[in-house]
Amino acid sequence: MSGELQEGFACTVCGERHDVLPLQYSVNAPQAVMTIPSDQIQERIVITADQCVIDNSSFYLRGRILIPVPELDAPFVWGVWAEVGPKSFLRSNELWNTDGREQEPPFPGWLNSDLFLFGDTINLEVDVHTQPVGERPQFTIRDPDHPLARQQREGLTIEEIQDIAEMIFHRGQSS
Ligand SMILES: [Zn+2]
Repeated sequence: MSGELQEGFACTVCGERHDVLPLQYSVNAPQAVMTIPSDQIQERIVITADQCVIDNSSFYLRGRILIPVPELDAPFVWGVWAEVGPKSFLRSNELWNTDGREQEPPFPGWLNSDLFLFGDTINLEVDVHTQPVGERPQFTIRDPDHPLARQQREGLTIEEIQDIAEMIFHRGQSS
């Protein structure tokens, strides 16, 4: 099971069959990067696949919001970014290759990705859970009443994952 369901699904928005049903969506940079003019990117941003620093003063980590899918043996995944404090960022750097780092206590972060299905998610508070070396951190939503927090507790059905795909595939189209 990796990232998508191969049998696809019949879309209720366009009436066509989509070839695959994604089980994960990810973005390659924090949302804050998009607001920086392209001619300033090189001097203001340092970015890797996992970390980003803007203006030497704002710090971001790439992580994963996992949502259980009881019908499958794999979770649904949002690959997103969170802003973290400078101390947390430095600490995660220190521990980057340290065995057992997953025993670190969770630390606070603030989503810096636009999950438009859930309204405004910029600065939504998360706990950042360090994972074993080689794995991205996991984010859990702090506010227990937020719909995304509820999904993290209760999981998603395949049907709900299809609804998500329909909204993402056809974002911006009037229906
Ligand atoms: Zn469609």
